[in-house]
Amino acid sequence: MEAKTTVVNANKLDSTWSDSTIPFTEQTTLDQLFVESSKFKHLSDRLILLNVNLNAVDYSHNKIGHGNTRAQAGLIGHLGDGKYMIDFDPARTTVLDILHEKHHIIQFQRLAKSGALGNKSLFSKYVVAGFERGAYEYELRLVTRLNVSQNYKRFLGEQILNYYTITIQRKYESDSKNFKKILNAIEPLLNPSLDRVLLKKKLGL
Ligand SMILES: [Zn+2]
Repeated sequence: MEAKTTVVNANKLDSTWSDSTIPFTEQTTLDQLFVESSKFKHLSDRLILLNVNLNAVDYSHNKIGHGNTRAQAGLIGHLGDGKYMIDFDPARTTVLDILHEKHHIIQFQRLAKSGALGNKSLFSKYVVAGFERGAYEYELRLVTRLNVSQNYKRFLGEQILNYYTITIQRKYESDSKNFKKILNAIEPLLNPSLDRVLLKKKLGL
């Protein structure tokens, strides 16, 4: 089954050469290198079914995080015809990185199916905020019952808050340019009421 999108754009989410610092979760199953994980075959098969081309790339020359961090996630290129590509570095990309990218693909397919985007850009600041906020809320659901590191929790909380700015909140609430429809299509479980206090509570911070 192929999801068809109407958007042709060579842009990307989650560029690996940014200098973001992504802490490890300290949960072996999530921090394991994708290629070394016992989930490798299962996950690869799932991605093939989602029409994803996995592209192994060496990112060792790119600037990545510092300190005790995992690499920035493998990035996703959108080819505009219901086909997707995940660039990943076998020496760096973790299982969690791949799960994050896989979630973006599910978001792309939901958005394509809904037709809510119309002729708006897939990679506009607002739409990207919906993708990322949604993907980090997905991570939040994923790790809620796991004992993950404080550093990772703080990172996750910051990501969720940073991608959902006041401007975006207003745009969502006023439903300017169908924004609510677009966001709900991307991430039906998006929880715009998650504020700093609630998040801290949820994350046990
Ligand atoms: Zn992302």
